[in-house]
Amino acid sequence: MKRALLVVDIQNDFCEGGSLAVTGASEIIPVVNSLIQKFKASGDLVVATKDWHPKTHKSFASNSGGTVGELGELEGLPQVWWPDHCVQNTSGSDFHPKLQKDYIDVVVYKGTNPDVDSYSTFFDNAKREKTNLDDILKEKGIKSIYIVGLATDYCVKFSALDGIDIGYDVYVVEDGCRGVNLSPTDSRNAIKEMKLKGVKIIESIDIQ
Ligand SMILES: [Zn+2]
Repeated sequence: MKRALLVVDIQNDFCEGGSLAVTGASEIIPVVNSLIQKFKASGDLVVATKDWHPKTHKSFASNSGGTVGELGELEGLPQVWWPDHCVQNTSGSDFHPKLQKDYIDVVVYKGTNPDVDSYSTFFDNAKREKTNLDDILKEKGIKSIYIVGLATDYCVKFSALDGIDIGYDVYVVEDGCRGVNLSPTDSRNAIKEMKLKGVKIIESIDIQ
């Protein structure tokens, strides 16, 4: 295996009708499914991530007394207060029903510690704890990761930036991602920031 497709947080709560719906989320599903099939056909690894919060998670406005969408502080870190979302073992945390789940090799869970949010698929936001993603990739000798999913300005961005820091070649497939855009330019700025860091921004059509 030479490369991995990283399918980030394509869960019901982040899609249309969910509690933290990203505009246009379901539009990426055909793009993501065709990449899943492509990676499977070439013998590469397909990893999907799940935001996986206990219902006591302190990033939820309901638990912290903050206002949804506003910036506060959680355990010394800046924290956007979110609506309750992706609570473990609820339909909101399930993968989108149209996502091609049969070809997913591994699911990586993040956001399980109630005291810290976790945008990156590699580390929590305080970088106190690592997920098992890096170990899984290293074990298989994978050097390149291709990221699709939700959302461009949060979990995709922070996973891509950490991927570069750890030493991977990181590609973000722009037509396979959508952003939250609390401010309208957030996704555009995220793309710029990723490019500056060395992430390659590509379209799904560029992938062989
Ligand atoms: Zn979350």
